[in-house]
Amino acid sequence: MENTAKKISNPTVIDIFEKFEHFSKVMIDAYVLVDAEGRILKSNLLFSQLVGQKIKQILKSRSFDDLITMEVNDQQIHIKDLLEYLTPTRIDEVRGRNKQLIDLNMIVSVYPFSGEDGNNRNIGAFILLRDVTAETQLQNKYKDKAIQSITDPLTELFTRTYFEDYLELQVKTRSVRSYRENEEADLSILMVDIDFFKKVNDTYGHQAGDYILKSLADIMRRVFRKTDVCCRYGGEEFLIILPDANLKNAALASDKLRKATEIEHIVFDGIHIPITISCGVAAIKFPNETYMETVARADAALYQSKKDGRNRVSIHDGSGIKIGPCAKK
Ligand code: GH3
Ligand code: MG
Ligand code: MG
Repeated sequence: MENTAKKISNPTVIDIFEKFEHFSKVMIDAYVLVDAEGRILKSNLLFSQLVGQKIKQILKSRSFDDLITMEVNDQQIHIKDLLEYLTPTRIDEVRGRNKQLIDLNMIVSVYPFSGEDGNNRNIGAFILLRDVTAETQLQNKYKDKAIQSITDPLTELFTRTYFEDYLELQVKTRSVRSYRENEEADLSILMVDIDFFKKVNDTYGHQAGDYILKSLADIMRRVFRKTDVCCRYGGEEFLIILPDANLKNAALASDKLRKATEIEHIVFDGIHIPITISCGVAAIKFPNETYMETVARADAALYQSKKDGRNRVSIHDGSGIKIGPCAKK
């Protein structure tokens, strides 16, 4: 009798857990009950599977930390960290590694048990560990696949499909804003084509040609802003969307790329291969123009750059084609 009264006034973790024990039998997650030192007092079969140890071994271990290591945002966490929570807490994206060196992804929920002596220190905790390794791997696989489908494998620039989807979305969201008739929005398109690229292939070989394409993509990544969308439109043609540039600024950015390409010292197999590019620029006119019409204007400007001798920038402002701001001669 006396003993029971003592228990109620100063219950242990096991005492507190007793009334929840029947719930724990139907848990579909791994769980452990730990004391203030992080020693495991109870666990289930799912926890055994998670850490790859028999329940007997688990109960013999000195601490939870001996069975599994955990990291959140690349920072290792220990059982003593979990025991510091004073309210129930859920931690997503916990990366774990068990004794068999198997990597795990988990959602960890901590239900602390506070003591009655008022020192704000937990006497233990009930910890649920949901193993989401398989789901995470599957999600990553689909994420990788999705990224692959919008990435050109040679240059790692966006594909034509992404270019079209991106512009379609931009047009849709921007067309709800009020534009005056044929007003130029700050969204410009730049079309780029490598000069005499066939000759590069014929002279230095197709592999050299591929290397040039990759090098030009690197120059683009260097020259343009993170928010600009660089795409390989096909073959040796590229389209770049400048979402925040008007025609003048887009033409300046194009010329920056043209110059950077001209001075780049590209070496393949010990041979220096100089290249130049021709560019055409147009800014989309809202709300009357479709993005394909803007692309066609950029294409017409590019054609003019080729006609005028290549290695230059031309712009199409809607009324006609003009020489770019810093165009060569
Ligand atoms: P221009 O200055 O008028 O643009 O001349 P060009 O020789 O660049 O134009 P043309 O359209 O005649 O030739 C384009 C060449 O681009 C032909 C093709 O073999 C090459 N090409 C297209 N895609 C690739 C590729 O993925 N790799 C390599 N190495 N070459 C490619
Ligand atoms: Mg071409
Ligand atoms: Mg070409």
